Formats: sequence, C-alpha cells, structure tokens
Amino acid sequence: MKKDIQIGYEYFKNSSELNDIEKKLFETAKQARENAYAPYSQFFVGCAVLLENGEIFSGNNQENAAFPSGLCAERTALFWIGANFPTVKIKKIFVVGGPKEFHEKNPPIPPCGACRQSLMEYETKQNENIDLYFSSMNEEVVKVHSIKDLLPFYFDATFL
Ligand SMILES: [Zn+2]
Repeated sequence: MKKDIQIGYEYFKNSSELNDIEKKLFETAKQARENAYAPYSQFFVGCAVLLENGEIFSGNNQENAAFPSGLCAERTALFWIGANFPTVKIKKIFVVGGPKEFHEKNPPIPPCGACRQSLMEYETKQNENIDLYFSSMNEEVVKVHSIKDLLPFYFDATFL
C-alpha cells in the first residue's frame, strides 16, 4: 500500500515580504552568522530564536579540530536556551547559512537532520508549534509552521 505525506511551507521571494519581527530575526541571524567559528568548513551559519516572552537569542556554528566535537548554530542556540529558560516556549527560529564567499545562487539552507531532531524535541516538550525559517544570504526565505514539516517521521519519547 502506497501512502503519501503532505507537508506545507511558505516561500518568500524576498525578505521584504516578511513582517517586522521576521525581519528582525533575519537580521539577528545574519549578525550571528558573522561570529560563527567555522575555520574548517568555511560554511557560516547563524540563527535567531524568538521566545514567547519576546526575548531574542542567537547562535552560530562552532567547529572543532576534532570534527564531531563541534556543533551547529541551531543546537548551539537551542541548548543554551534550554539550559537558561527551560520553561519559556520557543515561538520562532530563523536560520541563515552559506559559504563564506557567498554568491547569489546559494539557495536557502535548511537545518541538518540532527538539528531537525533536536528542534522536534523542543516542539514536543512545549506542546506548541515552532515557526522555522531558513534562508541563505540572498533574501529568499522558506518558512514551515512546524518542525514536523521538515521531519515527518520523527522519533520521540512515545517510542521509548
Ligand atoms: Zn545542524
């Protein structure tokens, strides 16, 4: 029996189509990207996270000479927030990534599989969807209304 899964997303041709808070998150993520520590991949990623209390925090990728010891921008931010604001819900996360030498053809960069799994954990924990945006520096933006749309067959605590 063949079954299909349908996911939904929004596409913005240009960041000028975003609303004010979304634009602020985009700018914060781009700023965070500037401080990424990515001497090995030269692939720079920044993210901005909006909490339900209105605060915005950011993260960026942190690489390591022992490669697996590094961490993506999304999880750098998520784990810090989880450690410091364990009961505050996450409303939105905006991710901006691309090679250091950016060129206009770079498409929007989605979170890696491990980050999708981590994001899904927080969405499940707070029992409320997280809006996720991803972009390169070229102003095109993709938005999903739930991490489930990026990870349809997600693993969670119900399997344990
Ligand atoms: Zn990742």
